[in-house]
Amino acid sequence: MADRGLSDIKGVSEEDKKMIENIETMMGPEPEDMGFIKNAFWGRMREELIFPYPQEGDEERDTCDALLEELEEYLEHEHPRVEIDQEQYIPDWVIDRLFDMGVMGMIIPETYGGLGLGVTSYNRVLELIGRYCASTAVLVSAHQSIGCKALVMFGTDEQKEAYLPMVAQEKLSAFCLSEPNVGSDAAAQESFSVKTEDGDYILNGEKKWSTSGAMSGLCTVMCKNMVPNPQTGELEQRGVNALIVTPEMEGVEVFENNRAKTGIRGTWQARFRFNDVRVPQENVLHEEGKGLKVALSCLNYGRCTLSAGVTGAAKAAKEQGIKWAQTRYQFERPIADFELVQQKIARMSAVTYAMDAMLYMMTGLLDQGESDIMVETAITKVFCSEFGWQVIDEALQVMGGEGYMTEHELERAWRDNRIHSIVEGSNEVMQSFIFAYGGKQLAEKMVSIQEALLWDTDASIGDNLSRILKAATTPAVLKKAVPMGAQLFLGLKPSAPDLQSVHPALQDQADALTTLIQKHSHYFKLVSKWEREDVVKHQAQQARVADNAIFLFALASSLSKMDDQLRSGEYGPAFERDRAAFEYLFDWFERKIHQNFGEMRDNADESMREAAQAARDYNDTLPNEDFYIHEGSPLGRDAGKEPPTEHIAQFDGEGQDPREVDRKPGETQDLDVDEVVDEVADEMAQPAERGDGAPEEPTPAPDTDNS
Ligand SMILES: Cc1cc2nc3c(=O)[nH]c(=O)nc-3n(C[C@H](O)[C@H](O)[C@H](O)COP(=O)(O)OP(=O)(O)OC[C@H]3O[C@@H](n4cnc5c(N)ncnc54)[C@H](O)[C@@H]3O)c2cc1C
Repeated sequence: MADRGLSDIKGVSEEDKKMIENIETMMGPEPEDMGFIKNAFWGRMREELIFPYPQEGDEERDTCDALLEELEEYLEHEHPRVEIDQEQYIPDWVIDRLFDMGVMGMIIPETYGGLGLGVTSYNRVLELIGRYCASTAVLVSAHQSIGCKALVMFGTDEQKEAYLPMVAQEKLSAFCLSEPNVGSDAAAQESFSVKTEDGDYILNGEKKWSTSGAMSGLCTVMCKNMVPNPQTGELEQRGVNALIVTPEMEGVEVFENNRAKTGIRGTWQARFRFNDVRVPQENVLHEEGKGLKVALSCLNYGRCTLSAGVTGAAKAAKEQGIKWAQTRYQFERPIADFELVQQKIARMSAVTYAMDAMLYMMTGLLDQGESDIMVETAITKVFCSEFGWQVIDEALQVMGGEGYMTEHELERAWRDNRIHSIVEGSNEVMQSFIFAYGGKQLAEKMVSIQEALLWDTDASIGDNLSRILKAATTPAVLKKAVPMGAQLFLGLKPSAPDLQSVHPALQDQADALTTLIQKHSHYFKLVSKWEREDVVKHQAQQARVADNAIFLFALASSLSKMDDQLRSGEYGPAFERDRAAFEYLFDWFERKIHQNFGEMRDNADESMREAAQAARDYNDTLPNEDFYIHEGSPLGRDAGKEPPTEHIAQFDGEGQDPREVDRKPGETQDLDVDEVVDEVADEMAQPAERGDGAPEEPTPAPDTDNS
């Protein structure tokens, strides 16, 4: 019995089916071996993946330590972190200095002028930068995790020779995925390239929010891959291309350098317009049409470095907050003597322990070349962005009114680190992803069994009976269906996985973890049974399952880290702090997981949906012109209120301010995508005078001979 895809579930809306199919195409085939979290959805534990806690090699660690020492000296004494935020600009001398230290070429192989460091070392550096200046951490991460990472991972020798020395030593790089109508929906690209007869590509479209785009020497640009159908001559989309584009190519226009924003104000996000840019065929990364794989692979690294930056910021905020609480006296005692302040201190301590454990578990798995890590990188990103920002928020709260003041630097960290739950896949999208892809294989099995054995109201009685009888007498179906049925309908749970190899002092936590994994799998099946096809749209339930997967990975990584600390004989106040943080983390998260189990069964989702609907209905009575409305809204860009520009810094580019242009949804800045596709298709049917994208000979007429 072949397993059915998730989009095959009956009763799922066409829009949701399309979304699931798009995501499935983007994800590509499943890796051979399921990763840690996917196994946890089945109630299994791949112990060998997370024990022992990953370690860097001695040589690599020494090289990285030397770099960290030099970098810390610079960050502490020279780096203009306050100026960067206040002036909304990272000075060129800072970027040059980072290049000189090798920080901008850390992940680039030494043969091409980089340091050739592994993922763990790279993230240790990002964590250190994140302690001091999130703008700089994001600049470094955008350059190496996404800007030129595709070139490092997928580039040919010729591509690497042509561009890597430049981005290792002198020029920034940028990643161009987002567009006015491409935010969370990364597959909805409107920018497109058309392959010419000589093999080059003509690129048109618009890109938004490309970090460092205005000052980059290289951009990795994602666009629809439009290819003429040999039969009809019509252009058809065949996947997405990842193209290397450089600013000197004719037709590349940066029409907005940056916009004023909440935090990471030193970074700049550019807006590009590509006007018939001829991109040589040798600039395709990976394979034609396989660009989304390129983008998703880069995002794994971006999600780690994002986590590293916020981990550094959270650790610094925690230390500052605790010091304040110990030294600020109210009611004739340090405020740290009050239990509600202690609760914050304990939470900050436990959460930063888990962030660290998860982050370096992930980087270790990436360094070991583990292939099925996409769910875990998403988990780490959600946890670090959400909980890391909460740590900074709690530290600010502990500092009271003084925490809100600019000089104490926490308010900057608070503004800066807010971005991480929005970018690199918003946390809500990641929760759905963790639910769907963590449990994908198990869900597919359940759909297949359900389909084989349950009554289909759309089918005839005869069809139902013959299908069920056939399936019920097939040993392969029975073998799978009977245990699954026993779990779903009789409430029987398979036994918890075994974890015996931990340090003896940690056996209680190991047993607690394996029991939670067993229950997690059971509740995933129950939620799927209770919700049936509604599970696709009931995201509150998805989020409970996803959050539990996140907590499980936090606990598993922390257990492995503490196991390593105990085995290596650590002691002293730092170790005692870690050990107590670890024990509290287990107590705390175990309860959070059980709370989610309870709410999977009994929750307020129904009235939540009604309240949301009523609030939306009321909102519809408010005039659109009183509010800001997204530029790509189907209502049109003039539907909402005009944003003020006075007293807000403007960072114009070479061209027109995009807000002055009347642009309808589905159009790029001054370009109607459908119109241009039609034009190019027409041109391709004509003989061309010059090599501008049209073939030399007319495209053959469609073959009408059906014989
Ligand atoms: C400072 C900054 C730097 C950036 N750098 C880059 C860069 O270098 N390169 C690049 O290509 N892009 C970059 N981006 C763009 C960034 O990746 C997008 O902002 C992000 O993908 C979210 O898209 P959006 O802002 O359009 O939000 P939308 O897609 O409009 O989503 C808004 C909110 O809706 C909710 N939401 C959306 N979809 C769902 C769903 N399916 N389920 C549940 N909730 C949902 C989420 O809460 C989300 O936060 C940057 C953005 C910023 C602000």
